[in-house]
Amino acid sequence: MSLLNEPLQFGNALPPALVTLVGAGPGDPELLTLKAAKALRAAELVLYDHLVGKEVLDLLPPSADRIYVGKESGHHTLTQDAIIELMVRLARSGRPVLRLKGGDPYIFGRGGEETQALAAHGIPFVVIPGISAAQGAAACAAIPLTHRDHAATLVFATGHLRSQGDARVVDLDWPMLARPRQTVVIYMGVGALPVICEQLIRHGMSPDTPAAVVERATRPQQRTIAGSLQALPTLALVHGVESPALIMIGAVVALRDRDDDLRRQLSETTVQGTPNRSVTMPMRDAKNVAVSGIVTCPPSASSANRRSASASLGAGSVTE
Ligand code: SAH
Repeated sequence: MSLLNEPLQFGNALPPALVTLVGAGPGDPELLTLKAAKALRAAELVLYDHLVGKEVLDLLPPSADRIYVGKESGHHTLTQDAIIELMVRLARSGRPVLRLKGGDPYIFGRGGEETQALAAHGIPFVVIPGISAAQGAAACAAIPLTHRDHAATLVFATGHLRSQGDARVVDLDWPMLARPRQTVVIYMGVGALPVICEQLIRHGMSPDTPAAVVERATRPQQRTIAGSLQALPTLALVHGVESPALIMIGAVVALRDRDDDLRRQLSETTVQGTPNRSVTMPMRDAKNVAVSGIVTCPPSASSANRRSASASLGAGSVTE
């Protein structure tokens, strides 16, 4: 019999323990909240996802039991139902569970399903929010998500492909997404990028709308591939974009070029109090296109060597 169908145990059974859902942020461990870091340091038993990085797991006490329950596309360790079942079983056995998820648990993180199930089973829970990938990518790629002159609305959508009969489709409200003066951020959309761009153009968005893919945001290997909405699928293909990556569409994407110029001027004098941190060097991207690099992300203990490079490739550019 499935654990979820078992009758609740009363009598000598222990009261269920607390489940803490923790947002691990987009990758850079310094982007954890203080509350998340505190919960990690006190953890005894952790269920963690695919996008949680090693540096974050390193904050756990060595004695903590770790269970990987990641769901990479095409390779699921456990189904979502099985993860929920396991969480319920562990909490009912009286062991506090820390459920660790990439970004924020309530933004495309299945946190809603998990807390619903916990509530249905009478298991106490708390949620510690995390910085979502969109916020991390915006800061590190210098793309403001909103701007008084360019975007009064911000939409987070999923580009996850769903089966519809024999076809695989992206089931989104395209007329709503194609509206002017808004920024659209699409999670899990790399596999469907050509469909997404084509649908937006078909529903009235200008093919020249600035658009970017930000890959591995906030991590040392972060790359930003930017161009027009029309050119983006080809640019992503040429540069071999891989998951995890976010698609960002809207006039605000073009502001990153201006920000890069400003940062370059600033970094030539001072970056966070450190003179001359800028590094300009000739380099080549995956397709052997000559590009030049300059430090743009504010260096931190974990990201001091992050480089930025700009390349002209038709209507596009690459920033690392
Ligand atoms: N709860 C997470 C999202 C999980 S869905 C959050 O709030 O960020 C997984 C998707 O998030 C990935 O397919 C990708 O689109 C995006 N993502 C997560 N981490 C990312 C990162 N470091 N860089 C770019 N995209 C990321």
